[in-house]
Amino acid sequence: MALYENTLQQIRLASELMGLSPEVEAVLREPERIVQVGLPVRMDDGSLRVFRGFRVQHSSLRGPYKGGIRFHPQVDMDEVKALAAWMSFKCAVVNIPLGGGKGGIEVDPKALSLAELERMTRAYAGALSDFIGPHIDIPAPDVYTSAREMGWIMDEYSRKVGHPSPGVVTGKDLAIGGSAGRATATSMGGVFVIEAFLKDRGESVVGKKVIVQGFGNAGAHVAQLLHERGAQIVGISDSKGGMYCEDGLEPNSAFDCKVEKGSVQECLRTGAMCRIVSNEEILALPCDILVLAALENQLRVDNAEVVQAKFILELANGPTTPEADLILEKKGVVILPDILANAGGVTVSYFEWVQNEGHYYWSAEEVHKRLNVIMTRAYEEVAAKTRQYSCSFRLAAFISALERLSAAHQARRGLS
Ligand code: NAD
Repeated sequence: MALYENTLQQIRLASELMGLSPEVEAVLREPERIVQVGLPVRMDDGSLRVFRGFRVQHSSLRGPYKGGIRFHPQVDMDEVKALAAWMSFKCAVVNIPLGGGKGGIEVDPKALSLAELERMTRAYAGALSDFIGPHIDIPAPDVYTSAREMGWIMDEYSRKVGHPSPGVVTGKDLAIGGSAGRATATSMGGVFVIEAFLKDRGESVVGKKVIVQGFGNAGAHVAQLLHERGAQIVGISDSKGGMYCEDGLEPNSAFDCKVEKGSVQECLRTGAMCRIVSNEEILALPCDILVLAALENQLRVDNAEVVQAKFILELANGPTTPEADLILEKKGVVILPDILANAGGVTVSYFEWVQNEGHYYWSAEEVHKRLNVIMTRAYEEVAAKTRQYSCSFRLAAFISALERLSAAHQARRGLS
């Protein structure tokens, strides 16, 4: 099923359960604006390549559009539409005054030189400069983009408007208005959510066996944070494959090794308890918590049945298809869904934007404290909805978001 179809199905299921007004559902099924751009870029060898870029602005009911920019060969309009809609729901779940957007370029960034990457990113920022801005749409990093690309976009946009405009993007370097705590925000938010969930069950992360699929920004940090809190990281993977160590592995040194050697599998610790595993296999190995921190559609109808984890923490967006959701629910696996579990990233992005607009910067402790308050409150609100509607955390998170989006629609456009 196409990804945006999944999103529409999620909206439908939650709408039915909560009795959402058909008017609001109709509004949320259509993105407000879709932009597609052709980006001519001069390559180092003198040739010209034209890249395809996208930006989807799903909903501004609750504030300016907000969402990352992804550079990946499989980026397409369907994916960007789904990711943009999830941003609207995510911002509403954690109750921050932002809407949802997402962008991307269909490109393999690893195949470009640094200079080509910069020219392409600047071309994208230039093409979108009429559609983004601190009060319009605020991009951020996503898969294969980082503070570096945000710096280029901020620079290009600032040049266009004629003054420095740090609030046009978040996830920037600290030197140009980035926020303390942004790099670990998504993972930290996920940790606050899983801790609150386990506390409700009279449990904690201490001693829990954890597998992390996707050892990038979100995945590597969550492995480190959970390890520091007493969990045992037994498996990690990246796009080239993974490793599984029954007696646990040390995520900090695994990360340093991955940076040096380029892949997790190159970092296998020799010993009887460790082995190399494939990307498919790692999802089916024994653990308490499976963290999905790679890409969408990882758990599907064909592999959900073999999952052995008790709990799934979705740091990636859309890693579980609706069909897999049903299979996992039947097996009793609890999923802490993306629009709640990975909302720490956009929450600290919101803090960054607030600091940029207010020209006053907070300490890491301040950011951390405020993030904890927002994530724990959002978890408690969603948990209350699971009890009220006897439903999964995913449906409960959608209901929580839809209630807020519906209230905004009513306040702005409702009949008296
Ligand atoms: P990243 O590019 O830093 O890392 C992605 C990792 O996934 C890489 O290590 C890559 O090798 C790995 N990967 C790709 N395909 C894989 C596969 N089939 N099996 C195992 N690993 C695979 O990206 P990121 O920022 O960590 O984002 C990861 C996910 O989290 C994405 O879905 C993103 O949308 C989501 N997310 C990220 C943030 C954030 O702040 N970084 C916030 C919210 C959501």
